[in-house]
Amino acid sequence: MAALYIALRNLESLIKSLGRYGDVHAPVRGDDGVVRFAALKPGNLPDLSALRTLLPPKKYLLHPQETILNYTTETGYQVPLEAVRPLILLGLHPCDLAGINYLDQIFLGADPDPLYAARRSALTLVGISCTPDEFCSCHLFTSPLKASSDLFLHHMDDGFIVTSSSPRGDELLAGMKDILEERDITIPEDTRRFFGGKVSESVCPELDPSLPEWQGLAERCLGCGACSLCCPTCACFDVQEFGGLDGGSAVRVRQWDNCLFKSHAQVAGGMNFQKDRAERFRYRYRHKYRGFGPLQGIPSCVGCGRCRVVCPVGLDLRPLAERLERGAS
Ligand code: SF4
Ligand code: SF4
Repeated sequence: MAALYIALRNLESLIKSLGRYGDVHAPVRGDDGVVRFAALKPGNLPDLSALRTLLPPKKYLLHPQETILNYTTETGYQVPLEAVRPLILLGLHPCDLAGINYLDQIFLGADPDPLYAARRSALTLVGISCTPDEFCSCHLFTSPLKASSDLFLHHMDDGFIVTSSSPRGDELLAGMKDILEERDITIPEDTRRFFGGKVSESVCPELDPSLPEWQGLAERCLGCGACSLCCPTCACFDVQEFGGLDGGSAVRVRQWDNCLFKSHAQVAGGMNFQKDRAERFRYRYRHKYRGFGPLQGIPSCVGCGRCRVVCPVGLDLRPLAERLERGAS
């Protein structure tokens, strides 16, 4: 079957071509050995073989801390919308694409978040295939989240099969005709499986709070929150308002919050709905494997493995997830 192909020797030309449509960011290995999504400097090539970045691409869509509303008595409430530069994210694995899909459902739903919406519409997604390692769980669960991108690169021995899934992807392809070849080649089965978009039939059952595993996890967990920080679908945030000393102005700020923190469920008057760490673990678990609120029934774990890589005490929810997936209580 004829497919469009880009040889590895043309990677630099591919990046140059993408750069005509906006800033190109991709996984880059720093001097500290950590791989992060970052701007590609001229002449620098991305690390497209790295299996995961430390932080997921959510940092581009949901900033760790930002003003979401300005108020003055003269202007009233105003969303601080600024022009967003077009951004091309190159090298997104299917789990991160599915993660963006999940964030879209939260922030572009019935009442879209204007800051997220502005950044999302300026974002072009170029995915790439990968091979799961021992930390990944994308291959263990049926994900209901479609990994959709504008362009997708399927790793082959000496290059990539390239496919487009959107008008923007078609436009990008049209701009790189000089490096596209037609080859009689088929997309490998293991890269195609991420694109089913099938609604999961294996949402975990409701959790039994008396399972001994909860206490075991809670006793070992340090409550550092790293697992949630690096999760591509964890999107909880806290909102605070700061009034100006002039009495006529204020800002509303949101910043990433973390369900493993004791303060997460604390409300006015000191009441805390989840003061016990085991409760907080169950809460996180429910979000990841059963869904939450309007997204109930859509597990939000896309299997990237970051939480397992970063946990300082090596906690892994997978065995519990697998046990519940099998229907045990
Ligand atoms: S729960 Fe862990 S494996 Fe699942 S998406 Fe979040 S960080 Fe990745
Ligand atoms: S990274 Fe590990 S220790 Fe830290 S909050 Fe998450 S489970 Fe607990």
